[in-house]
Amino acid sequence: IFILAIESSCDDTAAAVLKNDKILSNIVANQSIHNEYGGVVPELASRAHQQNIVPVIDMALRKANINKDQLDAIAFTQGPGLMGSLLVGSSFAKSLALALDIPLIAVNHMHAHILAHFIDEEGFDKPEFPFLALTISGGHTQIIQVNGFFDMKIIGETTDDAVGEAFDKSAKILGLPYPGGPLIDKYAQLGNPKAFPFTKPKVPGLDFSFSGLKTQILYFVQKNVALNPDFIAENRNDICASIQYTIVQILLDKLKLAVAQTGIHQIAIGGGVSANTGIRQAIKDGEKKYNWKSFIPKFEYTTDNAAMIGIAGYQKFLVHNFENAAVVSKARIEF
Ligand code: ATP
Ligand code: FE
Repeated sequence: IFILAIESSCDDTAAAVLKNDKILSNIVANQSIHNEYGGVVPELASRAHQQNIVPVIDMALRKANINKDQLDAIAFTQGPGLMGSLLVGSSFAKSLALALDIPLIAVNHMHAHILAHFIDEEGFDKPEFPFLALTISGGHTQIIQVNGFFDMKIIGETTDDAVGEAFDKSAKILGLPYPGGPLIDKYAQLGNPKAFPFTKPKVPGLDFSFSGLKTQILYFVQKNVALNPDFIAENRNDICASIQYTIVQILLDKLKLAVAQTGIHQIAIGGGVSANTGIRQAIKDGEKKYNWKSFIPKFEYTTDNAAMIGIAGYQKFLVHNFENAAVVSKARIEF
């Protein structure tokens, strides 16, 4: 079967076409407009989605070499996300499903970040149930016990900032442009991770906290810049490496605890921050060090994309989990 998937939850307009669990096309239009504001401006995001959605879907269909009439279903992101952004994707999906008279499938964006592991991709194994998913993105930091395609339980999550925010806010303190996560990653690869020791927060159980680390980094930078105005420029790589190292250690500590508590040794990472080379390496190293089996998705399926919406949609298609046109977008959505 052929599914067209649409993702528009935040600032990327994305469309993908799948043939069963294989990706025929996966198109993403990034919105660079937000960079000059240092964060996503919701009103500008909806407007850009409105401009991008038709050309992005056209391109996805063309690249897949599929005609609209061949489609068997339309999948779209129902939430969580920015309401104005979600509405552009859902309205388009509803109209197209109605016009083509094919099923409409609503997908939870956070489920999709996890289910991206079930895309049929050469050289990538699929996890077996149950497995642990570490979902790390701009808005979320969660450890999830995944018992089935739609049977997932959050066993740990952040009590304040998401890990992506920790990266982006740290980058902002260092004067780097938004989104700073990828830049911290880039400079970290050139620096010494032990140059500046930051302390890890003490949070009970499997939950996370990142706001204290952000404050710690802010004070650290302020103090040193007061002594030496060129401190950041002279130590950029070492500071970035030290920040990244601390964040990776925080994530690893909780994963080790989750493995100990559940007895599950399969670890799958997902979400935009799983593009981070330090995190990827640490999870991979866990195979030898902690006897984990690790699942690291292809780069293009980690940050927001429609292929993951399509694979989640495909699983719903198989069990005929369809919606009618009355389905509503949800900025927050129950897991
Ligand atoms: P959510 O999925 O929770 O709704 P989102 O869609 O905004 O949030 P994603 O697109 O999944 O988030 O991820 C974006 C985040 O990932 C940003 O915070 C960005 O800085 C971070 N990020 C991307 N690449 C890297 C990297 N290599 N290292 C660190 N952080 C990164
Ligand atoms: Fe996301």
